[in-house]
Amino acid sequence: MPSSSLKHAIVIGLGISGMAAVRLLKSQGCRVTGMDERAGRSDYQEIPDAFIPMICPETLLGADLIILSPGVDPRRPELEKARQKKIPVIGELALGLRQLTLPFVAITGTNGKSTVTELVGAMLTASGKKVFTGGNLGLPLCDFVLQGCPADIAVLEVSSFQLDTLESFTPDVAVLLNISPDHLDRYPDMAAYATSKARIFKDMKKGIAVLNHKDPTVRAIGEKLSLTTHWYDREKDGTGIREKGLILENGKVLDLSHFPLPGRHNLENLAAALLTAKAAGATEEGMEKAIGNFCGLEHRMTPVGSIRGIPCYDDSKATNMDAVCRALSAFKRDVVLIMGGRDKGGDYRAMEESVRRYARSLILMGEAADAIEQALGHMVPCRRAKDMEDAVKKAVQAADSQTPILLSPACSSFDMFRDYKDRGMQFRRAVVRFAAEEVLP
Ligand code: ADP
Repeated sequence: MPSSSLKHAIVIGLGISGMAAVRLLKSQGCRVTGMDERAGRSDYQEIPDAFIPMICPETLLGADLIILSPGVDPRRPELEKARQKKIPVIGELALGLRQLTLPFVAITGTNGKSTVTELVGAMLTASGKKVFTGGNLGLPLCDFVLQGCPADIAVLEVSSFQLDTLESFTPDVAVLLNISPDHLDRYPDMAAYATSKARIFKDMKKGIAVLNHKDPTVRAIGEKLSLTTHWYDREKDGTGIREKGLILENGKVLDLSHFPLPGRHNLENLAAALLTAKAAGATEEGMEKAIGNFCGLEHRMTPVGSIRGIPCYDDSKATNMDAVCRALSAFKRDVVLIMGGRDKGGDYRAMEESVRRYARSLILMGEAADAIEQALGHMVPCRRAKDMEDAVKKAVQAADSQTPILLSPACSSFDMFRDYKDRGMQFRRAVVRFAAEEVLP
């Protein structure tokens, strides 16, 4: 339904995607009320037609459509009456999809979504297509729709919160990368979280599913699909991952001497991207060109300098345990690991094996420090840090030139930082400052 036929919509949560929804709805003549209960949102009051600093159940009943931001839990009791009245409650992505006129690729998974989305976008671009990459990263879909969908194909990163607030969802290619514990502060258990991820295929009657065969939860989901499935990381056939690179379906060995992303997980990402881009129409030359030029994304195991010869890496985007374990195993040697932040549920003991093998000591910060120390403190020395500068200082004291310092927090950043980018930038600033000073304070 184009939003031009809507009279009154309510957007709950005026963050980046919420504001994109407001702009699209207003451009099509819909009256928009914004609701946001977080302090500091008063700067947005002028943009919707009305602003309410809370989720007001009575006002919701006057809407034709409710747009719920990913940060707001769909189980909030304030939404109940509106649901009973059959007022649709959808996300910004679902609103954008109502008007997306292009073929699209959808990519989800616990980790690697942004990397794979960017890789697929680059491969299709290098194959001569005009591509929109966005969704849960970069530009929200509603802003792209507002521009008139100027592309041949859209490559969308889709989070589980976005999957929870979809309507009909029929991507041409849908990708499920992996499922490991995350967001267990929002989902009651892993089964509920996996069900959310499986929603990426929920309405597909045709099209192609790309799935990770090595991941048991993903495999179980994929084996039940009646769709054309392209598996990667499967021993017998498909795209194989070997110590030194990738073997393609045709048996060709892909030269990865120019692929700069470290770790096996990035080979998995590349395998997923190759199958996806190919299914979406990329050429072999385009794919190889994109691989040669790809530099990776910021805050994902990014080298940010060295202090007294100790190399420092910013993996601030690692907000769950599996991402940290993958980073540790990519180093294959002792590191000093800076961890902590806001807990997202889950048991840090799941990291025991990786921490025992690869972490020389832990520098802990934020709300989750106690829980992490309780789970892992018996295996490795732990120290507490009050802020990022303190964390880097203590990490340097615990490291030597053979022991890199790795910020890879396994937690979200919102207890101490604006977001993961802010956390990563503060880390980088501390590294640069200490690197410039001959002696640490
Ligand atoms: P997402 O968009 O799903 O958060 P990113 O590509 O931004 O994924 O990477 C987030 C974090 O996960 C980074 O720390 C990165 O090093 C790590 N990571 C990337 N790909 C994978 C993967 N396939 N499996 C596990 N961890 C990964």
